[in-house]
Amino acid sequence: MKGDTVNSDPSANIAIPELPDELSGLGEIALNLWWTWNPRGKNIFRQLNPYLWKESGHNPIEMLKKLSPKELQRACDNENFMREYRYVNALFKEYMHDKTVYSEEEPLPIAYFCAEYGLHHSVPIYSGGLGFLAGDILKESSDMGLPMVGIGFMYPQGYIRQIIGSDGWQNGTNEPINRDTAPIERVLDDSGGHFTIQVPFIDPPVYAAVWKINVGRATLYLLDTDIQKNDPWDREISSRLYTPDMNQRLRQEIVLGIGGYRVLEELGIEYSILNLNEGHPAFALFERVRSFMEDEGMALDDAIEEVRKSSVFTTHTPLQAGTDVYGFDMMSHYFEEYWKRLGMDKERFMGFGINPDAPKAGFNMTVLGLRMCSHRNAVSKKHRDVTRTIWKSVFDHENEKEVPIDYVTNGVHIPTWIGDELFEELDRKLGENWLHMQDNEDLWSRIEEIDDKKIWDLHYIYKVRMVNFIRERVRRKWADEGIDPLVAMAEGVMLDPDVLTIGFARRMTSYKRPDLILHDLDRLERIINDFARPVQIIFAGKAHPSDNPGKKILQHIFKTAQDPRFRGRIAFVEDYGESVAKYLVRGCDVWLNNPLIPMEACGTSGMKAAINGTIHCSSLDGWWPEGYNGQNGWAFGGESSDDAADAAALYDTIEQKIVPLYYTLNERDLPGGWVSMMKESMRSVAPKFSARRMMKEYLGKFYIPVSKELTEVKKGEES
Ligand SMILES: *Cc1c(COP(=O)(O)O)cnc(C)c1O
Repeated sequence: MKGDTVNSDPSANIAIPELPDELSGLGEIALNLWWTWNPRGKNIFRQLNPYLWKESGHNPIEMLKKLSPKELQRACDNENFMREYRYVNALFKEYMHDKTVYSEEEPLPIAYFCAEYGLHHSVPIYSGGLGFLAGDILKESSDMGLPMVGIGFMYPQGYIRQIIGSDGWQNGTNEPINRDTAPIERVLDDSGGHFTIQVPFIDPPVYAAVWKINVGRATLYLLDTDIQKNDPWDREISSRLYTPDMNQRLRQEIVLGIGGYRVLEELGIEYSILNLNEGHPAFALFERVRSFMEDEGMALDDAIEEVRKSSVFTTHTPLQAGTDVYGFDMMSHYFEEYWKRLGMDKERFMGFGINPDAPKAGFNMTVLGLRMCSHRNAVSKKHRDVTRTIWKSVFDHENEKEVPIDYVTNGVHIPTWIGDELFEELDRKLGENWLHMQDNEDLWSRIEEIDDKKIWDLHYIYKVRMVNFIRERVRRKWADEGIDPLVAMAEGVMLDPDVLTIGFARRMTSYKRPDLILHDLDRLERIINDFARPVQIIFAGKAHPSDNPGKKILQHIFKTAQDPRFRGRIAFVEDYGESVAKYLVRGCDVWLNNPLIPMEACGTSGMKAAINGTIHCSSLDGWWPEGYNGQNGWAFGGESSDDAADAAALYDTIEQKIVPLYYTLNERDLPGGWVSMMKESMRSVAPKFSARRMMKEYLGKFYIPVSKELTEVKKGEES
């Protein structure tokens, strides 16, 4: 069968070493990211060899490769280990074979397209929030039994490892993806070779090989142009995310959209609904029109109508400037044959991408998505209002309220982001079934029943783990590279788990104002160095390689962290990614967010923090106007942004609210008020900003109504 990977075939998976028969299930578990969101799944690997587990960066494939046959045999002889292994294996099998689907009205399969996916650090094919949203959507769809396939890109050189020089300047090195230790499999063709598609209409032809990743019960297909069959320039198409070379970027989006669509067609994957996450893959819409015309004999206008009503477009940008626009000449170069094939002339074809506010600028991918999908959503309520304003001319509306763009506020995949010990405590207090009811707000009121000391102790464990993780990294740098002591200080060796800790981890870019808290250094110094009630701040985040203002902000932070007057209480943690994020969202006390309003479309790291009891402190942008209830964190700053005023409001909040609450202990020697707020944060944020709630909204607003309509049309045709 096409597209079915055969594990026993050495060419299908190059990664998993030979295992003793008794442990053969471990290879299968290692090749399915299911283990990443199941505490006992993680544990089974850790138990095999805790040292190698750590050394491998929590990558089971890498670890299995390093285990000696002797060691594997020892595991087989260890009855305790085998009992746990059999249990986990049974859990996994049960999960995979569970046929229950969330909805009584079964939605038709959904094909989800996105340029990046944040799943786990062993598959570095993401840049930031957009990718983590896509990853969480696949994971949640799997948990809910929603039939979904993902389409994305393999970026062989994609991941930039951030290295900061002693002058605070960000340097990066490409960290090539290691296909031998990533949880990926080749998709095979009929003759057992690596399944490869040709992207139509690019001349000379471009080919993409197809890989797959098992995300529980969902499958993600990845296109890889780095294959011998391609010319060198074409091999580079998928080499890195969001290349600034516009020509190459256009070719990337042709491969993702049109090539991605070919993958679905040629593998015979059934789906009816397309969900495009952001404009990058929007060419899939044209390819779908073409396939309706050529395979099903539809007329152009009927095909367009059919595509419209079965497609969902999700937009994330709050600014027209944030969208991809390609010059008409460049577009003509690639699409001249294509529009003829669709029976369109150039004017009509280009018309789909012309932004009425900038008609000469070129072909706009977001405008294409908005025009060719009749279901459109922004990613928070506030972002919907912004999106309606910036795109109203696409819909010829003067009145923003009539612009047909809805919203689904993002959520986070709870079992991925919540700490394991907290997860287990919730098992005990909310009942074993809590994950199935995670979006039920009443359920979460039982958080109250967890003893304050238990919450505080768990939080302290996460904090110590975070500090140890940061220090250990610096220790290695110190040992390997002999870094300057001031650099070691700036990277966090002096962090103290007993000190109130504010975390700020996100992309280093101007609109997020990472250095807002450095606005008045004298005032900050007083806050940080308060003798009895000190404060420390941990920063992390990458600047885009071509974003010099972002790199300057980072440098400013790094240099401030080296300033002895802050006594090592400001730290910058290198190489923010999935792994660092997990330590920080669990280990900090406060999660800070202070974007220029209304530039944060949603933001999800604050949700990850809040469900772990790391309290959110943010200006009222993105999801926070929906999330903040007066008791579950802090909101500061005005309706519109002003750096000086916002910084002052932030300092006031820290001095008057945050510090006293944290350092006031009750008769049990616990910060009772603080722990209450942690509980309120978890109670109020977890159900409402869970990926479960989000997926139910996608279902209710889009997938189910579209399914119904398509099913009815089909029935009508049959009778
Ligand atoms: C969640 C997450 C993001 C997105 O969070 P924002 O709040 O939008 O910045 C970015 N990077 C990583 C590593 C994440 O885990």
